[in-house]
Amino acid sequence: LFAGETEFVKGVVAMSGLPPADRMEVCFAGRSNVGKSSLINALTGRKGLARASNTPGRTQEINYFTAGDDHYLVDLPGYGYANAPLPVVEKWQRLLKQYLSGRQTLRRAFVLIDARHGIKKVDEDILKLLDTSAVTFQCVLTKADKVKAKDREAVLAQVRQALSKHPAAFPEIVLTSSEKGDGIETLRAIIATLE
Ligand code: GDP
Repeated sequence: LFAGETEFVKGVVAMSGLPPADRMEVCFAGRSNVGKSSLINALTGRKGLARASNTPGRTQEINYFTAGDDHYLVDLPGYGYANAPLPVVEKWQRLLKQYLSGRQTLRRAFVLIDARHGIKKVDEDILKLLDTSAVTFQCVLTKADKVKAKDREAVLAQVRQALSKHPAAFPEIVLTSSEKGDGIETLRAIIATLE
């Protein structure tokens, strides 16, 4: 689906470091440990690709990957680190805000939510930020394999309810498992249809 090479491009710490806006991009946000790296790896079919973003020092960067020749996949810093110092948190919130409202080629923000937990307070902060940015966001539930089929509807209902308060939310929720492959093809297809 993503024709061409998939590779790590660079980690960015300031707007001035963004690669040229020469193709469309989608970004991925989520609290740390939500399964963001695993999802990017599953989407690109390259195990270990997004591991770079989880190594110390890389976690506060916006990490760019090419997905074929026509897309960038953008890995935003994981949020919700309990003990990150306030100046660090503030610095990346500022960068995130600038990125989400100022990146012209950004077509959609995917917000990853652990399917076991639904939308939590830490997630709400990012949803509020997204409401003020120029881009539509879409929820992706991760680790669906860890939730029994009979419990999924309750999580989906909670997420739907939370999203109903956010004008920038795209209504369709994508249920995924990077482990089992559920929803990966759906998500690829969604990205491919964005122009
Ligand atoms: P990140 O911090 O958001 O990049 O999270 P990772 O991708 O590193 O994943 C965090 C943990 O969740 C790891 O132990 C993964 O193996 C696990 N994980 C990620 N995706 C899935 C999934 O779809 N199913 C299951 N069962 N575990 C997953």
